[in-house]
Amino acid sequence: MISTLYIERDIESHPRAQAIIARFPKSRRISIDRYGDVFNQTAQDFRQQKQQPALILAKKHGRRVLPTPPGYHIGGERNFYFSHMLNCVYDCRYCFLQGMYRSGNYVVFANFDDFFDDIKSTANEKPEEPSWFFSGYDCDSLALNPITEFTDDVLDHFNTLPNAYLELRTKSTQIRSLLKREPVPNAVVAYSLSPESVAAKHEHKAPTLKKRIQALQDLQNAGWSVGLRFDPILFSDNYQSLYTELFEQTFNALDADAIHSVSLGPFRLPKPFYKRMIRLYPDSSLLAQPMQTKTAMVSYPSNIEQDLLGFCETELLKRINKNQYFPCVSISNPVNPVEEHKSTSKLALTPVSALAGTVDNSDARKQEPTLHDLALGQPSREPST
Ligand code: SF4
Repeated sequence: MISTLYIERDIESHPRAQAIIARFPKSRRISIDRYGDVFNQTAQDFRQQKQQPALILAKKHGRRVLPTPPGYHIGGERNFYFSHMLNCVYDCRYCFLQGMYRSGNYVVFANFDDFFDDIKSTANEKPEEPSWFFSGYDCDSLALNPITEFTDDVLDHFNTLPNAYLELRTKSTQIRSLLKREPVPNAVVAYSLSPESVAAKHEHKAPTLKKRIQALQDLQNAGWSVGLRFDPILFSDNYQSLYTELFEQTFNALDADAIHSVSLGPFRLPKPFYKRMIRLYPDSSLLAQPMQTKTAMVSYPSNIEQDLLGFCETELLKRINKNQYFPCVSISNPVNPVEEHKSTSKLALTPVSALAGTVDNSDARKQEPTLHDLALGQPSREPST
């Protein structure tokens, strides 16, 4: 799977890096000074690298734990995100990562211990208040777990932090390590879900909807707290039947009252990412529908977005309580469109993690606008996957 390992000299003796390196005895190993020297090169082919990505082992410097944008939460007041990895083993055609990074290679920051120190000190700034920490914005939280063993470490850590809560966002069925251990009460495993045909068509390499629901069921049966992220919601002529079927399949398999949180989000994409994605995938059907630019984001025209979200919200609230529900935007208060794309123009879809502006990989892409920059002007209430 991984034929080339780039290893920062700063991290190569770290035990976590050594454990990962040992999993690839036949890989070519190249020592580097900083991961950005490889990851940020301008003349890279994202699509080609995505076919056979290299793994870059690096040390995360600078700010490892960042506040989420105002209003971003699933019930808590203090909300932060962190990214132990950049890029994803899956290849969703709407994913903002392909518009954000020039490289399709994976970066794993092996100094998990430094992330955990920062999480602890952030939580202890206000020990009397719960703090939420979100994982899985620049990657999938579980997909590379057999190699990184990230969840073993992070869950051990959160077991020692009663005032901190963790969300692991994922589409992966790599849950064996979770099922082997006692559930961690202050952790939520949140799955991004799309209708079966949408997943099959656009979520390349990701587990099928059926497998994700099975994983949710297994986790819930084992006592884990789970969350559902219906995000991004995609438009099609038959979206009502597709999303009704999705909700039926999902809620028939789960104990709805025991679900921690459900979020719902339109797809939006920062405009520069949207443009880059069109260049990458000019033939994509997802990138060929009418769209609007709303402030710095591209998304469906407001009337379509409102219809989509309104329908899904109504259907969801037949199945869950309001206190479980966290929409990513206020459905009654849409963003004012400022520019209409012609019907021949392309559109881009994004997991709402992009909308959230929850990513600040400033040392990975110094010339890029951060999602935080792009999204702070957005009236999004609640982003997700
Ligand atoms: S949308 Fe999520 S699962 Fe899909 S490629 Fe992006 S990060 Fe991975």
